Amino acid sequence: MADITLDEAKKEVVALRKQLNEWAEAYYSKDAPEVEDNVYDQKYQRLIELESRYPELVTPDSITQRVGGEIDSEFTKVRHDVPMLSMGDVFSKDELKEFDARIQKLVGHPVAYNVELKIDGLSLSLEYETGKLVRASTRGNGSVGEDVTANARYISDIPQTLPRPLTTEVRGECYMGKEAFAKLNQERDEKGLPVFANPRNAAAGSLRQLDAKVTKKRDLSTFIYTWVNPPEDITSQHQAIEAMHDLGFHINETGRKLANLDEVFAFIDEYTEKRDSLTYGIDGIVLKVDDLALQAELGNTVKVPRWEIAYKFPPEEQETIVRDIEWTVGRTGVVTPTAVMDPVQLAGTTVSRAVLHNPDLLKQKDVRIGDTVKIHKAGDIIPEISEVVLSKRPANSVPYEIPTVCPSCGQKLVHLKDEVALRCINPSCPAQVEEGIIHFASRPAMNIAGLGPKIVKQLIDNDLVHNVADLYHLTPDELGKLDHFKEKSINNLLTAIDNSKKNSVELLLTGLGIDHVGAKAARLIAQKFKNMSKIMAASVQEVAAIDTIGTTIAESLTTYFAQPSAQKLIEELEESGLNMEYLGQDISSDDIEDNFFKDKTVVLTGKLAHYSRSEFTKKLQALGAKVTGSVSKKTNYVIHGEDAGSKLTKAENLGIPLLTEEEAIAQIE
Ligand code: NAD
Repeated sequence: MADITLDEAKKEVVALRKQLNEWAEAYYSKDAPEVEDNVYDQKYQRLIELESRYPELVTPDSITQRVGGEIDSEFTKVRHDVPMLSMGDVFSKDELKEFDARIQKLVGHPVAYNVELKIDGLSLSLEYETGKLVRASTRGNGSVGEDVTANARYISDIPQTLPRPLTTEVRGECYMGKEAFAKLNQERDEKGLPVFANPRNAAAGSLRQLDAKVTKKRDLSTFIYTWVNPPEDITSQHQAIEAMHDLGFHINETGRKLANLDEVFAFIDEYTEKRDSLTYGIDGIVLKVDDLALQAELGNTVKVPRWEIAYKFPPEEQETIVRDIEWTVGRTGVVTPTAVMDPVQLAGTTVSRAVLHNPDLLKQKDVRIGDTVKIHKAGDIIPEISEVVLSKRPANSVPYEIPTVCPSCGQKLVHLKDEVALRCINPSCPAQVEEGIIHFASRPAMNIAGLGPKIVKQLIDNDLVHNVADLYHLTPDELGKLDHFKEKSINNLLTAIDNSKKNSVELLLTGLGIDHVGAKAARLIAQKFKNMSKIMAASVQEVAAIDTIGTTIAESLTTYFAQPSAQKLIEELEESGLNMEYLGQDISSDDIEDNFFKDKTVVLTGKLAHYSRSEFTKKLQALGAKVTGSVSKKTNYVIHGEDAGSKLTKAENLGIPLLTEEEAIAQIE
């Protein structure tokens, strides 16, 4: 470090701490970071540098000396008997060599590492008493976390009961997969809500919910990697992971015990390549001294264990030029800006568009046409503009003007209360009608094969449909006007539209695109009220009385049906012959109460004494289990009757928990 006086350092330290504290508060407490992680990391590293140059500047409350952020006072607090720490991080292989040298010096010999992926989520502690899950908590400030037990009960891969009556604690990462993250952000965009910056904040924002029903709707998963108090025969991290897998925990199977740094570097190179193809986000690789006795010997600093380190991937960024900003109108009228850029290769794909989400974000980033921008992929998946390269901004650049009228219908755009989004509130806006019909015909709704976005656009452009009811009056002659529509395609589409009239009423309810009423809520509502006229007459209280349906959905539903235009639409659809009754659909796993077998993969083997194989299979399926024919690492339980053969042997070799037929029946009952 170029030399700096104590006074200068002091001033810089104070300013850095203030800035870092503000960013950490937004990140940890609100789950809404104000800057990119690498910006935070650079300032943090600078603070560490200054504090090591002048150790007298280190104070116990410095951000370098504490874990995480403040905890939300509305949650019940949980004291962690064993603190949940943060982790030291390095950004190069050279720094890993220094870490390894330090460890070797401390223990006096080379050590093996268990190397794991660093999952982009938040840490979660799970406590069991005599085999039953009794508490789940977040890391919080390391000593005290938030009680999220009710929320964790909705995460399907967390065992509620262990196959053995253990009293123990495990820890791991609660995360949101890439697909779920992209879907959640898309839904939030459509609803005019701020999007989550990365999967970690999305997972944290979904788990740290006072109303656990919100967590239930978010698709969260876990990877468990720490056994806080393992039995004595477990002496290493890799053994602990295998044993936790046997107990039914979801573990990340990529972890490996590696003998030296060359193998570690090869692992890093392998996952730098594979990173984009994983279904969850990772932000680095974690090295853990494998031997648990050595871990204990090495101990912790106030903030991090000395026996582990994270190697953080460098941010993948590219520069490109913004050529245009396009505004698209969604089904609910939200108008979203997208930057159209010169195509560039980024983390495995060609990127030419980046959603800017809402006008506030666009203004905050001050993106202008002609700007050179840096782009990255949020959560390894969604292209986003990190920042404008101001040094490359053209001299004649002007701030981008946010539109005031709808790009589709020309009506004035509005900001609704509490929304970051701009909206077009014209119900006959052609862009909204088009999106509404695409949604109506989509698979989770009326599932009209062949009626995709391109055909819908042509139907609207040719003035053939103005709302979904018009679909049921289309004639062969009218369809003949569309591009490439011949007799066969005309017949196919008309048949598909006609067939949709027979759909059970929840599909129609989904298709109407009522705010907050997705496929699952529609099914629950239809199951309860049985037909459309009863659904339309239901009060907010009656709808909200359905388990897992809150007042937001109930109010949205009743407000929708109070509109004369909605009543008229249903009348027209009924006159066209659409079914308005609930015909009953298979229940989905989401509707099944949590139980020992829910979402577990189970294999039956041997002669069963109490039920036939198909009866037993049906019972397990009704509890949400997947019953498969062969044993693999993915199998959670093998249920065996008499004379079980090779499947039982394989399960024993793989360490998969075994249940006798009687034990399984006891769990079912
Ligand atoms: P961290 O997230 O970098 O590392 C520690 C955490 O890694 C653990 O608590 C655990 O939850 C997790 N982890 C994932 N996989 C793991 C595995 N296999 N084994 C063990 N642990 C695993 O540390 P931190 O102190 O929680 O947060 C610092 C990070 O947060 C930095 O990356 C920083 O950029 C970011 N941050 C960003 C902002 C911002 O404003 N952008 C603000 C604060 C912090």
